[in-house]
Amino acid sequence: MQKTINERIEELRAQFQQGIDAAPNLEALEKLRVKFLGKKGEVTTLMRGMGKLPADERPLFGKLLNEFKGFAEKMLDNQKKQLKEKDASQRWEKERLDITLPGKPFHLGRKHPLTVITEEIEEIFSYMGFQIAEGPEVESDYYNFEALNMSKEHPARDMQDSFYINPEVLLRTHTSPMQVRTMEAMAPGLPVRIICPGKVFRRDDDVTHSPMFHQVEGLVVDRGVSLADLKGILMLFTKEMFGEGRELRFRPSFFPFTEPSAEVDISCIICGGSGCRTCGDTGWLEILGSGMVHPRVLEVSGYDSEEVTGYAFGIGIERIAMLKYGIDDIRLFYYNDLRMLQQY
Ligand SMILES: [Zn+2]
Repeated sequence: MQKTINERIEELRAQFQQGIDAAPNLEALEKLRVKFLGKKGEVTTLMRGMGKLPADERPLFGKLLNEFKGFAEKMLDNQKKQLKEKDASQRWEKERLDITLPGKPFHLGRKHPLTVITEEIEEIFSYMGFQIAEGPEVESDYYNFEALNMSKEHPARDMQDSFYINPEVLLRTHTSPMQVRTMEAMAPGLPVRIICPGKVFRRDDDVTHSPMFHQVEGLVVDRGVSLADLKGILMLFTKEMFGEGRELRFRPSFFPFTEPSAEVDISCIICGGSGCRTCGDTGWLEILGSGMVHPRVLEVSGYDSEEVTGYAFGIGIERIAMLKYGIDDIRLFYYNDLRMLQQY
């Protein structure tokens, strides 16, 4: 049974509509156009076959085919426009900058608590007229011990378990070698007024001792320098460091390179002096060692001990930081645990 002309055109329309609806992009749309309206497309083929139709049917067929052609062109144009718009908006969506989105967090580095304390100490003493000096961490036996009044047989050497590199060279056990180095460099110039912050090394390792820790050495040499000056400067320092209302206590002690020598305690910053776990119920906390420079140390460094006097002190930086921040394990400073370091 032969299809009617109308049926054949309807079929063509339906096929075309299906193709339009399914075309996902401009490329598919162009393929569809070629398939239906191209030189070898459906419409052309049907036109060419028109000759086989009965003569009376030809005009209608031609008319309907032309109508379809017009319809198809219009549809293709519309669809093309729509696809182009959709494409552009998708691209815009993709590239759109949403300024309401939360930003990426920017991690700022911060200073290590020991650096903070060191800088604070430097600032306090700079304000009081001290110069900042730095010395070698690998030190000779002469500067570390001998020039500081500790001969090879001196029992005080046993107080400090040292890391020797060879029999004459070691990692400095304190910052005190800088007393001699500074005086040697300046002699006989006056006044000498320095602090020397730095790393020191001892064979110790527990909750309050570390094989590497930090000290600040202080040294003042001039005419007429007395124990009262030492006391005054240390009182100023503790006031600046820990605030008003701290009491200082000088306890007689012994260091080979100072005479007399004193260990200095401050009234406990936790309990205020009434006694607690941190101060071992004594109400006092030891913060530094100090004394008047031993005449022999002045002499080996090029100063006349009849003419000048001096005082020296050594502050443990970790000790100060532990007290100030309430940290009870010195090793926490070196674990590089961000949870700890970010608190300061
Ligand atoms: Zn206490």
